[in-house]
Amino acid sequence: MISIKSNREIELMKHAGYINYLTHQEVAKNIHPGITTKELNNIAHKFILAHDAEPSFLGFEGYPASICISVNDEVVHGIPSRRKIKEGDVVSIDIGVMYKGYHSDSANTYIVGHASKEVEGLVENTKKALYEGLSVIKDGVKINEIGKKIEDYATKNNLGVVRELVGHGVGTSVHEDPDVPNYYTKDCTRLKSGMVIAVEPMLNLGSRHIYMETDDWTIKTEDGLPSAHFEHTVLVTKDGYVILTGDEVA
Ligand code: MG
Ligand code: MG
Repeated sequence: MISIKSNREIELMKHAGYINYLTHQEVAKNIHPGITTKELNNIAHKFILAHDAEPSFLGFEGYPASICISVNDEVVHGIPSRRKIKEGDVVSIDIGVMYKGYHSDSANTYIVGHASKEVEGLVENTKKALYEGLSVIKDGVKINEIGKKIEDYATKNNLGVVRELVGHGVGTSVHEDPDVPNYYTKDCTRLKSGMVIAVEPMLNLGSRHIYMETDDWTIKTEDGLPSAHFEHTVLVTKDGYVILTGDEVA
């Protein structure tokens, strides 16, 4: 069932989204060669708790950490560990924040220092693909329009679109209906004002194909080439959308 949020719920979700944004800022300024992904996880964990919120992912379906950190050929759900960040790494940070029972979900990808033109293009174009997808959002639009935009943009830029994982509704659970795929489907569900969804393209420099690591969490590209991930939680409005996981003060 797709939920329509009340004004009170939207206010709480704006706050959850703003803490999420601030947590991303805090993690981003600590990403440098030599820091471990576990240390970045702990920075996020403490920061979220200090803002009277909770990390949505900790314990979600048994997930063992507070945020997801996926490096290079890891697409999503990388578990923070003693792995050290290196110069040239592509680091995707995915953060969920719950405030007073309401969630927010957002991801960013960073290049540590310098990378090849190709890898820079991957990260830049995955971010652009997110905004392409967001651009069609308003009351009455079919959800499949979002995926069509993202897929068209990715294809034009020779990037593989991961299909096994999709965007989703957000609310009292971090994953709610509806699914929001990053590719065209025949689903004719329409967006409605008051819906809150997470749009999250995962694009690969090579083919779209992925596999699950033996830890049963980490998703990797089959060809070993890097992947990027950008995500915002947005509120659907009559004329457009509002990004809840941006820098708007709630
Ligand atoms: Mg996420
Ligand atoms: Mg998500």
